[in-house]
Amino acid sequence: MSLPPLVEPAAELTVDEIRRYSRHLIIPDVGVEGQKRLKNARVLCVGAGGLGSPALMYLAAAGVGTLGIIDFDTVDESNLQRQVIHGQSDVGRSKAESAAATVREINPLVTVEIHNTALDRENVRDIFSRYDLIVDGTDNFATRYMVNDAAVLLGKPYVWGSIYRFDGQASVFWAEHGPCYRCLYPEPPPPGMVPSCAEGGVLGVLCASIGSIQVNEAIKLLAGIGEPLVGRLMVYDALEMSYRKIKVRKDPDCVLCGENPTVTDLLEDYEDFCGAVSVEAQEAVVDATITAVELKEWQDAGKDVFLVDVREPAEYEIVRIPGATLIPKGEILSGEALSRFPQDRQIVLHCKSGVRSAEALAALKAAGFTDAVHVQGGVLSWIKQIDPSLPAY
Ligand SMILES: [Zn+2]
Repeated sequence: MSLPPLVEPAAELTVDEIRRYSRHLIIPDVGVEGQKRLKNARVLCVGAGGLGSPALMYLAAAGVGTLGIIDFDTVDESNLQRQVIHGQSDVGRSKAESAAATVREINPLVTVEIHNTALDRENVRDIFSRYDLIVDGTDNFATRYMVNDAAVLLGKPYVWGSIYRFDGQASVFWAEHGPCYRCLYPEPPPPGMVPSCAEGGVLGVLCASIGSIQVNEAIKLLAGIGEPLVGRLMVYDALEMSYRKIKVRKDPDCVLCGENPTVTDLLEDYEDFCGAVSVEAQEAVVDATITAVELKEWQDAGKDVFLVDVREPAEYEIVRIPGATLIPKGEILSGEALSRFPQDRQIVLHCKSGVRSAEALAALKAAGFTDAVHVQGGVLSWIKQIDPSLPAY
């Protein structure tokens, strides 16, 4: 299915533009006409992180006239392994500002619009409505569903991508011509089931593979060339080096873009919809949560604490709280590791940030370890409050 171009061509290309974009201009399918469309295009990139970095750099180089960058975060050292739009000297700087500086360096002819804020239900419509196309580089389900819902409600196309370890996916969602994200994933995954990149890791170069697919699709949509990835999901496996395309149909029962939609406005609370932690975990942590400072006090006072790190072995290798025993969450949830927990000692669980330990705590309590507690904020909180010399990851 080919689609008409998303953008009308600009009146003309300047001599500078003709020189700069000559390798595009001599491709018959792009030509002067296609380049003029890119010049007139307004593209918003949600997130200047793993996917946003390569996406913004290539969109800028390609000559997309106006690039919007929305990100509320600041550059962290652990971003540099994959977020190549930022450099060493940008650590601590606003990601939106840092990305904008790189875009200007790559192509000063691009107009950059910086949205140094978190995307939320109050601003998403206003921001999206200023752009022709959205490139979604978000890394969490709450924002992903909000991006989808806002795009469908505004009739905007968007190019979606996701990355995890060696696996990537990409597609174009445009309810007018095909499915939306909810047609593919009607429900968010159960909390704690799908780890984020911060929890599970991501191969840096995978971002370039998926980000470049997103830019490729954006250019096709803007210029009206080729077959856009509407109604098809691209699945990439970097270890196998395989690309598979899976057909995705529009779901007539989709609550958002189906025949009888029940979601006709943005949700009140996307965090709530996606659930940071399960109901069981939320209940388990009540009166069973200690801070890193309290844990340190218990240890210093010689309290008989059985400290359990429920993260994965690779994370335990990177950094650990002194005295912690590794028992990954999966082994606690399956019941496999329950025999390793003593009945007569104070059990304290921790993970990276407190989500997985809350899930493990719920399982332990259900198994009868009613006095067990977990550490709020996990090892990250320990590093921040107790030992900043340890590496935060
Ligand atoms: Zn849908």
